[in-house]
Amino acid sequence: MDFNTELLHSAPAADKYGSTQPPIYQVSAFSKDSAETLEKVFAGKAPGFSYSRISNPTVDSFEKRIAALEGGIGAVACSSGMAAVTMALLNILGAGDELIAGSGLFGGTIDLFGDFARFGITVRFVDSVTADSVAPLINERTKAVFAELIGNPKLDVVDIKSVAEVCHTNGIPLIIDSTTATPYLVRPIQHGADIVVHSASKYINGGGNSIAGVITDSGKFGWDSGKFPQFAEYKQFGRFAYLAKLRGGFWRNSGACLAPFNAFMCSVGLETLGLRMERICDNAYRLAEFLSEQEGVTVNYPALPSSPYRCLVQSQLGGKGGGILTLRAGSKERAFRLVNSLKYALNATNIGDIRTLVIHPASTIYLHSTEEQREKAGVYEDTIRVSVGIEDTDDLREDFGNAVKRSREND
Ligand SMILES: *Cc1c(COP(=O)(O)O)cnc(C)c1O
Repeated sequence: MDFNTELLHSAPAADKYGSTQPPIYQVSAFSKDSAETLEKVFAGKAPGFSYSRISNPTVDSFEKRIAALEGGIGAVACSSGMAAVTMALLNILGAGDELIAGSGLFGGTIDLFGDFARFGITVRFVDSVTADSVAPLINERTKAVFAELIGNPKLDVVDIKSVAEVCHTNGIPLIIDSTTATPYLVRPIQHGADIVVHSASKYINGGGNSIAGVITDSGKFGWDSGKFPQFAEYKQFGRFAYLAKLRGGFWRNSGACLAPFNAFMCSVGLETLGLRMERICDNAYRLAEFLSEQEGVTVNYPALPSSPYRCLVQSQLGGKGGGILTLRAGSKERAFRLVNSLKYALNATNIGDIRTLVIHPASTIYLHSTEEQREKAGVYEDTIRVSVGIEDTDDLREDFGNAVKRSREND
């Protein structure tokens, strides 16, 4: 199956009525015909659902679709992308442990890693996640490497294969946040990633109508090396140990479950991921090309010939650069004027919508970061992030072209 066929047919929603979409099971609890059956369901000895914080048929259907698409052995849906990042990591990390991460991360993730400090988890940042930058920082306390495949908004691209090799040589997993890349550009597990997380609020949902997250496990990492003693009691689950620990442990106990309605919205959105991404990547490339010819702005887009990541985009992302580009307008005032002059692009804090969205990250998403943290994330006073939508390219070019001109008036 090719990508678009797979989106529709890899994990069908069929129920006894032949529904073409997974029905929305908007319920909290599922009754059983006897106390014996409910006992078995609770013990995991009989299939079935008991309570929607633990599992729900609509959510289950969404998880199966994502796992199939990413090439994993299973997936766990979460209430948000941040919940997915948190759960994926806290399933492994405890007090005294260390994590290595890129400094060009999504602002919310940087804030989260600040919270980890209070629980005795140390995050060591590298400017960009490469085999060479990561290797010297790995010690006996290091439990994982975490990276965004295409950094949001730094737009640096990680070479998964070489980083995974260093991780595996040292007995630690590579966890990839693939939100901005999506399975349309790459399936990180095929390149050696162990765990993949998504903010499904973004491209997977696609319509900007639900907050959601999802974690997929490759099932390939060996948790029984002695480096992860907390996995000893999950040994019986074999290659499902990570998922069993997640589902039976912190994810379930902290109540990070996805609502059935949001799972439904993400399932429906997922079906058009290929069509949307094809259009979005094409629009983003053409807008980036156009803007790089305009006076007064500089453009960062990984697929442009001027980008240092162009080669990796060709070899790892099938030549596509994704839907996000950033601009530098020269000053904060110009950046604000540019944002205020746009007719079609909406000023909003989201990405992956079918509508083009723009934001000035320094005054919003990175408000809580230090100047050093911002600059390491590629966020300057004059940076604008553009999440390109599916509008007609000519309209986008005209809109941005006019806004760039206006941004330079009344200086
Ligand atoms: C948005 C985003 C998140 C957080 O997702 P939410 O659904 O907003 O909680 C995490 N990582 C990346 C790369 C994101 O873009």
